[in-house]
Amino acid sequence: MSLSASFLDSKNAGFLYKSKVFAGILSKKAFVGPYVVVIGGKYNCNYKCVFCEWFSSIGKKLGEEINADCYVNLDVYRNVVRELRGLGTKIILIDYLEPFTDSDLIEKIEIAKQTNLKCIVITNGSLIDEQNAEKLVNLKLDYLNISINAGKAETYPLIHLTETEQTFERIVSMIKLIQKLKKQKRTIFPQIRLSIVVCNRNYQEIERFVELCNETGVKNSLIKKMVPTSKEIADELDLTCEQEKEIKENLAQALKTAKKHKINVDIEWGDSLDSKNAQNLPCYYGWLFSFVDVSGYVHPCCFQDRDPNCSMGNIREDSFTNLWFSEKYRDFRKNYRSIDKRRKMGCQCNHPSCFSNNQQIYKILHESYLLPITYGK
Ligand code: SF4
Ligand code: SF4
Repeated sequence: MSLSASFLDSKNAGFLYKSKVFAGILSKKAFVGPYVVVIGGKYNCNYKCVFCEWFSSIGKKLGEEINADCYVNLDVYRNVVRELRGLGTKIILIDYLEPFTDSDLIEKIEIAKQTNLKCIVITNGSLIDEQNAEKLVNLKLDYLNISINAGKAETYPLIHLTETEQTFERIVSMIKLIQKLKKQKRTIFPQIRLSIVVCNRNYQEIERFVELCNETGVKNSLIKKMVPTSKEIADELDLTCEQEKEIKENLAQALKTAKKHKINVDIEWGDSLDSKNAQNLPCYYGWLFSFVDVSGYVHPCCFQDRDPNCSMGNIREDSFTNLWFSEKYRDFRKNYRSIDKRRKMGCQCNHPSCFSNNQQIYKILHESYLLPITYGK
């Protein structure tokens, strides 16, 4: 799971914050904290999605290298959230494996909200029940992304191998419940987004997925091409050229349906990565983003080698502030234009989500008021 462009909305960032980021990019050092920070909870998930880099039964699992006892507990979380607020951070994103397996999740959302930070949760949705649905609405969680990866019940178990069609139906009923509670309590929060990672098992139902958004009253969606994390996953699940062609036709129809129902669709597709432009796009994550994994290691993005030696350090041993302004982080920022140097620091630099986020950030940074000092053209 990953952050995607629609969350990086320019109104949220504010003039002062953006100006400081821009000054940082010009001088290659940070003057303000990251815009968004992903904070891991527990190394745990109740699913085994077919394309999961951690738990898929196909190919090598990243999870084999992780200590299952690792946990960003409430004290560590509370301290880092306070620090981030002081640094100017705007959004906490709770998105590591399955957040609802963490019994502290609701309290963590509450802490972020009390600290005046926006909070986003990305989940498979299966552990949402009547009780926590109501809490999410009461707490006015800002965004709830449910990775449903299917448009209809029959397809759901082909992706989520441990699950049945009934799980799909239950998740849909919980989405409808949240929408009902929002109406009753006269709030628009949490704003829900449904997402689908497209592979050769679900590629035929993109339009159905958009219809599902409409049926559940969801106004935001993400359609994302699977990025295989191993050769075995690629061999088993990658789309063929014919399937890609079919998708492009279906996508056009799906976008018409979305427009008719006023559903916003974010698309993360791999095509753009083949172009030289995409490869050469600067990466701004070093100024705007940070990822604290379940063990407390800080990474400049979600797609960096999880080896502690590649990390910027650990918040259990040092403050986030020290790590953010450290020499190592500065080195990472210096390499923002060079894909080769970033890859040497353990980053994959091949994800469509990076491309779309960097494009979005580029636009934010080049809004009219900043044009007199344009940079990067
Ligand atoms: S829900 Fe997420 S973490 Fe869990 S198996 Fe699926 S992709 Fe992996
Ligand atoms: S993977 Fe590369 S391009 Fe993507 S955020 Fe990390 S450093 Fe930037």
